[in-house]
Amino acid sequence: MSLIQQIFADLFHLLFPKKCNGCGNTLFNGEKTICIKCLHDLPFTDFHLYPENPAARLFWGRLPIHQVNALLYFKKGTKVQQLIHQLKYQGQTDIGFLLGKMMGEKMLLSEQRPDLIVPIPLHQKKQRSRGYNQSLSIAEGIAHILQCPINTYLLVRKINTTTQTKKSRYERFENLKAAFELQQSFNLNNLHILLVDDLLTTGATLEACGKLLLDNGLNKLSIATLAYTK
Ligand SMILES: [Zn+2]
Repeated sequence: MSLIQQIFADLFHLLFPKKCNGCGNTLFNGEKTICIKCLHDLPFTDFHLYPENPAARLFWGRLPIHQVNALLYFKKGTKVQQLIHQLKYQGQTDIGFLLGKMMGEKMLLSEQRPDLIVPIPLHQKKQRSRGYNQSLSIAEGIAHILQCPINTYLLVRKINTTTQTKKSRYERFENLKAAFELQQSFNLNNLHILLVDDLLTTGATLEACGKLLLDNGLNKLSIATLAYTK
């Protein structure tokens, strides 16, 4: 950046200061999306260090998964809920990208190298009304660090599953199993795919997608979500 550009950038920042998505305070120069204090205070799980972490255990007996990563602990009324809400409903895809990059760095440290990153797709209708897929922005952050490709065509959500909160785990899974299909005649045999979603609660969506991939010959499956609900 030239001196003139820097002066204009500083002036713009002065007139239209960017706010932290976590606390609402003005961001300092060099800070982006979330201020350093908020980032420091986030409840990181460090699950990448423990293959047998609680998120991984959630899938035991359901699906053979190589590694389950979840960056943060999710609790209602916390900053994590606020950030995920802004990411999902207020167009703040920068949050997904930033936290996705942090996840990518942790995965890099634990030597996790998927061949392909697949964000959980939204139904076409939902994607159109929302204008973006929040899981794709997380996937882009991870891919930026791990330098591996993203595929948004492989998995398709053909049924718009609405609110599932009142259903049991089995009902959710049965409902979801029919909601996805594989689009391409893709050879999955030698691949390690990382499925990416925003929040891990029951794991029903990830299980349905993961099962579809493994049933169609996928060699290795891993999972990464921004947050995990205890
Ligand atoms: Zn902040």
